[in-house]
Amino acid sequence: MTKATPRKSAGKQRVLGPARDLAYVEVASTELTRDINRDVILERIRELQPISRVGLARASGLQASTVSSIVEQLLEERWIREGAILKTARGRRPTMLSLNDELVILVADVRPARAAIAVIDLNGRFLSHEIVPLAADVQRSIEAIGLAMEQLRKRHPDKMFEGVGLSVPGRVDPKTNRLVLVPNMRWLDFDVSGTLSRRLKLRVELENDANACLLSELWFGHIDGIHNTVLIAISEGVGAAVLAEGRLISGRNGLAGEFGHMCIDSTGPKCACGQVGCWEMFASTTAALRYYAELVPQAGSRMQIHELLALAVNGDAAALQAIEKQSIAIGRGLRTVNAALSPELILFAGDITLFWNICHEAIERECTAGLLTSSQPRIVSIGDGELALLRGAAAVVLQRHSGYYRASHREKQRTVAGKLMR
Ligand SMILES: [Zn+2]
Repeated sequence: MTKATPRKSAGKQRVLGPARDLAYVEVASTELTRDINRDVILERIRELQPISRVGLARASGLQASTVSSIVEQLLEERWIREGAILKTARGRRPTMLSLNDELVILVADVRPARAAIAVIDLNGRFLSHEIVPLAADVQRSIEAIGLAMEQLRKRHPDKMFEGVGLSVPGRVDPKTNRLVLVPNMRWLDFDVSGTLSRRLKLRVELENDANACLLSELWFGHIDGIHNTVLIAISEGVGAAVLAEGRLISGRNGLAGEFGHMCIDSTGPKCACGQVGCWEMFASTTAALRYYAELVPQAGSRMQIHELLALAVNGDAAALQAIEKQSIAIGRGLRTVNAALSPELILFAGDITLFWNICHEAIERECTAGLLTSSQPRIVSIGDGELALLRGAAAVVLQRHSGYYRASHREKQRTVAGKLMR
């Protein structure tokens, strides 16, 4: 492939343009530059489609020859397709480019007792969606997910399947693609991606649910221009993903962002991770259900979060009190997140988004009460709960297969910024 180089050739550059201002990246090698340019082009197509090669050169700030060679590569790899030929007044007839929506991904949002499974295209559109109950046994669970995915695949014989993405409530080592921490499920020593991959004959990517969600926000362009954000996923547990100075932080073994398992009360209840008094024991939806059961013992222990939510919507005092207690715990924990990372934006995902209008005031109040300065982060729900997690699983496949992941997870990129200036 022709070497792709940005128009400016200084050693330190802002590679991504103002409209898609994801990150400041110092160019470390030609290979890295090529990967980044490729992602810039792919993201511009996603954002501005249908768009011509000339339009891409203008929007990306890259040379026409660079754009042209990257477009050829993306066409060859089927990420994009050529569409209508645009007629213009001056007689030039550029061919328009779009993401190839024939290319689709199988995704699953895995929870302790069930998985939502879907087929999703490159534009984030859902073509099929279903729920599969999961057993406590990991092997049976993976069989159920594999079978459901095979059936969904048969429903779309005209599509090309690029890969499989699983969003999981645990931590995944980015080097091995294996789970290294999954407190609420007994999945630790099982080769999830290998087993599914052998069955489906597709590459399988695992990612922590919060990380997947944050990747989705980046990929589908919802947080353009934001360089420092934390995404908190609250469902049965509490997960977090960190974008710091424009980079998704995975840390050693993929364990960065485990705020859910920091101890906030050494006399608190025992957590599935083995410690006591973890933040998630007070801030998860499981905690809200426990608070309600303490107030209304006859409710029983099998209550689900949507039942608690229905009670709260109808003004049930105990349900509202339980959610208030959970919200206060969330807000107090956010103070630590703020102190550690000083994000400009805090995003919420997971089941908490189902009752955001009930809980967000208490969360903000508790969080801002502990701020060290008057400037406070924006606190926002990303809205569509489970669908966001599924889009996140698709985004993981897209990012890893498209090069962004390669570019952002290079060993060189993980070193301190100063070393990249060589
Ligand atoms: Zn814990």
